[in-house]
Amino acid sequence: MKIYYCFIVFFLCFGIPAHLLKAMDIVRDGKPQATIVIPDAGSELVREAAGELQYHIQKATGAKLLIIKESFRPINKSCIFLGATKAAQEAGINTKKLEPNGFVIKLVGESFFMVGDDVSGRCGYRWNLRRKTKSPAKREKVFGSLHANWNRVGTLFAVYEFLEKHLSVRWLWPGKLGELIPKTRDIVIAKWNQTGKPALVHSRWRDSGHVNKKIGWKSPKAHMQFNENQSKWLRRHRFAMGVNQDRGHTFVRYWKKIGKSHPEYFNLLPNGTRRPDGYSGNVAMCVSQPKLWKEIIRKWQERYEPGQIIGATENDTNGKCTCSACMAWDEPDPALKFPYEQRLKYAKKAFDANEVEWESNLGSLSDRYCKYYLALQKAAEKIDPNAMLQGVAYANYVKPPLKAKLNKRIFIKNVPPYIINWKKETEQAFEKNWKGWEKTGCSQLLRPNYTFAGHNMPIAYARPFAKQFAFAAKHGMWGSDFDSLTGQYATQGPTLYVVARMNNNPKMPVSQILNEFYKGFGPASEAVKNYFKHWEQVSKPLTDQQLAAALNLKKRSLEPLPWRKFFLVAPKIFTPAVMAKGRNLLTQAKKAATGDTPALQRISFLEKGLRHAKLTLAAQLAYEAYRKSGKPLGASQAIRKLDAFRASAEFDGIANMGVLRYCEARTWPLSLLKTLTRNQSITTLPTVWKFMWDPDKQGLNKGWQADKFDDKKWHNINITTQWELQPLGKKWKAEHGTDYDGLAWYRTTFTVDPSASNKRVNLLFGAVDDSCVIWVNGEQVLDRPHSKNSWQESFEVDITKVVRLGKTNTLVVRVKDKECAGGIWKPVNLLVMKKDNFKKRLLTNPGFESNRKGWKRHDRLGKFKFEIDRTVAHTGRKSGRMTCTAFGSPQKQRRYRGRSWARWYREISVKPGRTYRFRVWAKTSVKFDGKVVALAVEPHKKTYTATTLNTNGNWIELRTPDFKAIGDKIVIYLISQNGLGTVWFDDAELSEKVSE
Ligand SMILES: [Zn+2]
Repeated sequence: MKIYYCFIVFFLCFGIPAHLLKAMDIVRDGKPQATIVIPDAGSELVREAAGELQYHIQKATGAKLLIIKESFRPINKSCIFLGATKAAQEAGINTKKLEPNGFVIKLVGESFFMVGDDVSGRCGYRWNLRRKTKSPAKREKVFGSLHANWNRVGTLFAVYEFLEKHLSVRWLWPGKLGELIPKTRDIVIAKWNQTGKPALVHSRWRDSGHVNKKIGWKSPKAHMQFNENQSKWLRRHRFAMGVNQDRGHTFVRYWKKIGKSHPEYFNLLPNGTRRPDGYSGNVAMCVSQPKLWKEIIRKWQERYEPGQIIGATENDTNGKCTCSACMAWDEPDPALKFPYEQRLKYAKKAFDANEVEWESNLGSLSDRYCKYYLALQKAAEKIDPNAMLQGVAYANYVKPPLKAKLNKRIFIKNVPPYIINWKKETEQAFEKNWKGWEKTGCSQLLRPNYTFAGHNMPIAYARPFAKQFAFAAKHGMWGSDFDSLTGQYATQGPTLYVVARMNNNPKMPVSQILNEFYKGFGPASEAVKNYFKHWEQVSKPLTDQQLAAALNLKKRSLEPLPWRKFFLVAPKIFTPAVMAKGRNLLTQAKKAATGDTPALQRISFLEKGLRHAKLTLAAQLAYEAYRKSGKPLGASQAIRKLDAFRASAEFDGIANMGVLRYCEARTWPLSLLKTLTRNQSITTLPTVWKFMWDPDKQGLNKGWQADKFDDKKWHNINITTQWELQPLGKKWKAEHGTDYDGLAWYRTTFTVDPSASNKRVNLLFGAVDDSCVIWVNGEQVLDRPHSKNSWQESFEVDITKVVRLGKTNTLVVRVKDKECAGGIWKPVNLLVMKKDNFKKRLLTNPGFESNRKGWKRHDRLGKFKFEIDRTVAHTGRKSGRMTCTAFGSPQKQRRYRGRSWARWYREISVKPGRTYRFRVWAKTSVKFDGKVVALAVEPHKKTYTATTLNTNGNWIELRTPDFKAIGDKIVIYLISQNGLGTVWFDDAELSEKVSE
């Protein structure tokens, strides 16, 4: 007893240096030495912060710290106090004066405090108004989609500050694999007294809307997990909106609501009217009109909360008002190519000539819009002397004003052009523009669209991005709003990491950030650096011309380059050679990482990304081939392969599958391609058949079509090319002086596996030149007439009823060749498909055999001819066709967002709750360059779609997904849109499922 006592006294008094006496052990030698303490009424936020702290410390040291409520805190033990505890209050830590999302980290004796500006459920006025019904628990959510999350999370940010500074934790990408948590045995704090805040008071990287789609994810769970990991990653990089300065387009509903009663609020067009100009659905405002300001202020007051900003941004449109008051507010634009005084004349001329963007002749309207912001603000100051207002640098008010001066309470969202090819000129233009607005004295937000770029391809733009972001930060950037985070982590990882890391560290050199990223690959860090250098090189030399050529944009400017279509250009940039080099570099990295498991796992993550990119490129190329050939099977297979890969990797966090499929679905006719995959098996029949000429038309009488007919003495012929090109045909020509035209007979046999009972069996003929009659086992199954393109079309015959399973079947084809080449000249396939139990057919006159009976017509855009075609049919003798001869007027094209649109349609009564299927056969003329769409529409409820592009003259089945009827009516549409040329429809079928 005595010995112990002496020892302790000795230790306390003499053993430890004085400065260490104040230090606090959190973990010592892998053992927990402290407890995490949260307030008794701990909010969701503090619980999350405690969880994050506990998780990372355990990963680093192996020690799991306890989390307990303050009332149960251990006495005489080191504590980490999170959030608004009594202990923090007693220690005199005041959070009231903190900046939004700010925090205090402080060591006081054996107590370590991390406390922040936490405001749960304070979600801004938008949230309060629109989501009143949401449960408090949901409003408290710290993670989840951050897009509209205005919770303040200072305590959580204190924890992240601690983890980053003290434990050197880095978060390379969302999910566990992206976490870099260095191992240590001890965590000791000697001294800490810090008041901090995130670098930007308002920072957002949009993670919902276009980038958060259910489509593309096989498992909803994978989708959810991806989003949760991602939003946690954004928080870890301190994305938060401490102040709600978020306003969208202000006047979206104005025209509809008060266009008639108050036309004076709206733009005066050159023809003297005030209304939308017909080129864009969005009307612009008469911004010099004091009554308009009054209306805006009235609306602002209606929902007023202290500090609430006034939305004053145009309707996603150019300024267009030509009234004298608005025009008087402008400053002469030096960029105009004619005398400034004549701009109204030029604008009118362009307007009268129906020119799109006629208003470009007015020049830059930035001074006008700045004067409007100021006037509006002045009027609002009568109500709130600190009135704030949001405008935007965009459209024809994107350039800095020449004269106007603003103030800090005017917030300008600066929208640089969408870029995928970063170049010196774009960088310089950005800097000039940003500086110009800075000079006006406004508060600027950086609101770019460039993080939309790249689909899932390994593009890299970290360096030019960093330069731009650092420039904006140096020049007074108040906040950021990035649209959007597409989440392609396995291919664009370094760039995404730089964007995230700079959010809270705008001054950090980009090379340092990139090195942090590469460090995650341990011994392979140099090799991985080389791998991404390669992609940097590939991304660099993209020129406007290259992109424009690849996208076939022709005269259209590149600026609004559609990000949704980047994958269409991708094969031109990511060529096989470029991809192979990337693959090689990754193999080298793998070698360098031998034996290092975490490094190998991260390299395998990159490998999955590269494979994903490769499969996407292959699918796009197959789609291009399909566009040319009209044959969809290859594209169907490539997309199937891509989908199978995505399904296998969707839990790995390599990519946001939703945004990819959302983009792809706008181009690839997925419903058609997926219909094809329903074919359970395709077998190609042998290509050598028995053959006989029939110049005297005696075959039928002699029973050549019969099942049992003996054809041993017939010739052999190949069915992959016309007879004229084969020895048999050449022999005929040598003997008769001319090529053979007339009747000829083909015979072969085939077997079908007995497993096909209960299945549908079809024969798919590649092409027969010209007309033919077909028998299976002696039964006639098709009489196919001649038509203009019949010689080159594929067609199907249903033989389910006559086929003998497990036994030999005979197939006989009598070909009639009217002129030129003749015969079966493309392989014949056997399709075995699932038999369905959709038996009850609901349509009368489904194939136009009774002409137009029952079918209605409607052409909305463009010039169309509707006709019954008596020579072309999928089955029977007739089909319905529509031919587009001219596109709609420019105004109508803008209004309907397309070039042409017409339909056959009809309404059918159905039974709610029953399952239905809609399908129709369609073919297009060879040069048709639009889209064919079949729709089953439940009025005001749901729409089911199947589409195809040019079918190259082939008949193709369009089939919507099966659906359960909600209401008692279905309208079916057969549509031709956005293309000149003819579309035929035949054999429409709406059928009801018969219960078994
Ligand atoms: Zn005006």
